[in-house]
Amino acid sequence: MPTLRFKAIGETLNRKPVIIEEPGRRSEIFSSNVFNEGVMRQFLTKEAYENVIEAIRTGKKIDRNVADHISTGMKEWAISKGVTHYTHWFQPLTGATAEKHDSFFEPLGEGMAVEKFGGGSLVQQEPDASSFPNGGIRNTFEARGYTAWDPTSPAFIWGTTLCIPTIFVSYTGEALDNKTPLLRALQAVDQAATSVCKYFDKNVKKVNATLGWEQEYFLIDSALVASRPDITLTGRTLLGHSPAKGQQLDDHYFGSIPSRAIAFMRDLEIECMKLGIPVKTRHNEVAPNQFELAPIFEEANLAVDHNSLIMDVMKKVGERHHLAVLMHEKPFAGINGSGKHNNWSLATDTGVNLLSPGSTPMKNLQFLTFFINTIKAVYDYEELLRASIASASNDHRLGANEAPPAIISVFIGSQLTQVLDELEKVTDGKLSPQEKTDLKLNVVGKIPEILLDNTDRNRTSPFAFTGNKFEFRAVGSFANCAGAMTVLNSIVAKQLREFKKEVDKLVKDKKMKKDDAIFNVLREYIKKSKKIRFEGDGYGEAWEKEAVKRGLSNNKTTPEALKAQVSKKTIDLFKELEVMNKTEVEARHEIELEEYTMRIQIEGRVLGDIARNHVIPTAIKYQNILIKNVRGLKEIYGEDFARHAKEQLEIIESISAHIATINSQVNAMIEARKVANKMEDAEEKAFAYCNDVKSYFDEIRYHCDKLELLVDDELWPLTKYRELLFTK
Ligand code: ADP
Ligand code: MG
Repeated sequence: MPTLRFKAIGETLNRKPVIIEEPGRRSEIFSSNVFNEGVMRQFLTKEAYENVIEAIRTGKKIDRNVADHISTGMKEWAISKGVTHYTHWFQPLTGATAEKHDSFFEPLGEGMAVEKFGGGSLVQQEPDASSFPNGGIRNTFEARGYTAWDPTSPAFIWGTTLCIPTIFVSYTGEALDNKTPLLRALQAVDQAATSVCKYFDKNVKKVNATLGWEQEYFLIDSALVASRPDITLTGRTLLGHSPAKGQQLDDHYFGSIPSRAIAFMRDLEIECMKLGIPVKTRHNEVAPNQFELAPIFEEANLAVDHNSLIMDVMKKVGERHHLAVLMHEKPFAGINGSGKHNNWSLATDTGVNLLSPGSTPMKNLQFLTFFINTIKAVYDYEELLRASIASASNDHRLGANEAPPAIISVFIGSQLTQVLDELEKVTDGKLSPQEKTDLKLNVVGKIPEILLDNTDRNRTSPFAFTGNKFEFRAVGSFANCAGAMTVLNSIVAKQLREFKKEVDKLVKDKKMKKDDAIFNVLREYIKKSKKIRFEGDGYGEAWEKEAVKRGLSNNKTTPEALKAQVSKKTIDLFKELEVMNKTEVEARHEIELEEYTMRIQIEGRVLGDIARNHVIPTAIKYQNILIKNVRGLKEIYGEDFARHAKEQLEIIESISAHIATINSQVNAMIEARKVANKMEDAEEKAFAYCNDVKSYFDEIRYHCDKLELLVDDELWPLTKYRELLFTK
């Protein structure tokens, strides 16, 4: 009987790309499954429509009566599109999305029934969600949690279900999800940025954070994945020798997309179009079978929802193509991992991108204000920003030689560095008219021109300015963007508040003109935040040393990085901005530590299992073949056999040695797990898993991979790297 491995390879070789019919022009299907403004106009009363729009723009609460009208309109629209169920769609702290489907159907008795969807069901639901992680919040406060409609992200249809984006909070109001703090952070940055904008333009009433993410992923045939218990259970390979050919030739990057992958992408893009996700680019990435997908940027809350949704949609579309979509940050050792660049900016309701240089000195001063404040925010909260992207899987990527280091720094390019150097020389106090003219003409005024040829893109920086936005590159491919976006928008909000205070103070106390005050405060920020700016090679060892001198953190593991999540500085920050209270912050910390522990625990178990139940028995089988061979040689050659069996005897010994090490290391790992499992404190336990359990992985793997090289290929049960990466 062929092993799972050979069956999987056979199946994969026989696959044909699925034929995807284009449904006419894509623009025609765009957003066709979204309850957007156009549909609302059609299905809602004028009053209901206006209420929703106002709720979206200003956050005004929707009246219960009106909610009934809205839900009825929504239901009619959904039914007209073949929908039978609805669900509150939310993002619990597991990182995935959650849904519980209810039918519109309601019996009336006597054999009659109707489709019903009341305002109450739209606005609020109480999922039986006791097993979502809550970091003890719901035990200490209230047993129940509820989901509440977020009108700023439109309802959509997926399959035959109407999905209503919601927040998930406890009855005492604590956030139990990723979206609630994000919405609060977006509100904080809106308020802070709007009030700073008023220095430059009184007409600005709202500032939206914008996010354009770039999702990297691997596509591997589902049969090949099913033949690997490690990928199936942990999302990554825990062992496997690197193939003779990896990514050295760079022949995959931007190369022609394989036909099965292209079929998957077309199918996915069509689904995205219907869901209103404006996907725009697709291409191969550096590693074999690695790809990237990016939409046009959107308002951050919607962009976060769309990313969470797309990760789910990708999995489901993948199933139709017999492709597993690997979102893990490091599915294969020795091969590039996946990230999710978060392109971020701030946009006003007057249509201005605040991180885009403008055509006048005044607009550029506004640009510089937001630009420098962002750098200062990143400097002040670099550890928190690092914590926001920490996870067991992203630990494999950060600091490895392909992804940004675990040190947070900001890259701005040589031209903007020059501008900041000039601004640093600005006179302390009031500026002379001559100096101001000089500045405006020669420094601030020149910005748009110089940015045009700002081509030096530093790919090694975790936080880079790329012409009209910052690109946070250290976010993991598997992550929910909400974590990073909550922190980034919060720290910028806090910074802009400080800036406003300082400028106003100089204007009031020192009788400075507004622009003098702005120049003065910015000058100080440039000086204070200089240490976070780094233009060199972020992958080099020299940078690690330099970063230590600069006092920047370099937290390489998740438990270490997460400490900043509960520091007094962080708790004060979130409290002041009303993004999270202390309980919420601490609960999140505990949940993330627990998640880390569980992931390493599962990996440890799977690795132990594969080593013991797959690798060792296979090695013994092969060793027995060799032993038989040696015995045969002895029969033929008698005492002279050793001369003929030299190689075989060496391999037999070497197999025994590897088996012995694997066995003792697996035993030791199990003991270390037992010790760790007894620990009560979540942080202590996470550290134990990080330092005492995970530390066995590499050695166990090393010996298993050596056996893979020794053992007869026919006998090896685990699909090999070369097959996972190159069988098409
Ligand atoms: P790359 O980084 O691959 O060179 P681009 O610079 O063209 O690609 O853009 C990358 C991403 O940045 C896209 O998803 C795009 O929508 C997004 N983006 C562009 N402008 C903004 C902005 N103002 N705010 C947020 N994201 C933006
Ligand atoms: Mg990019």
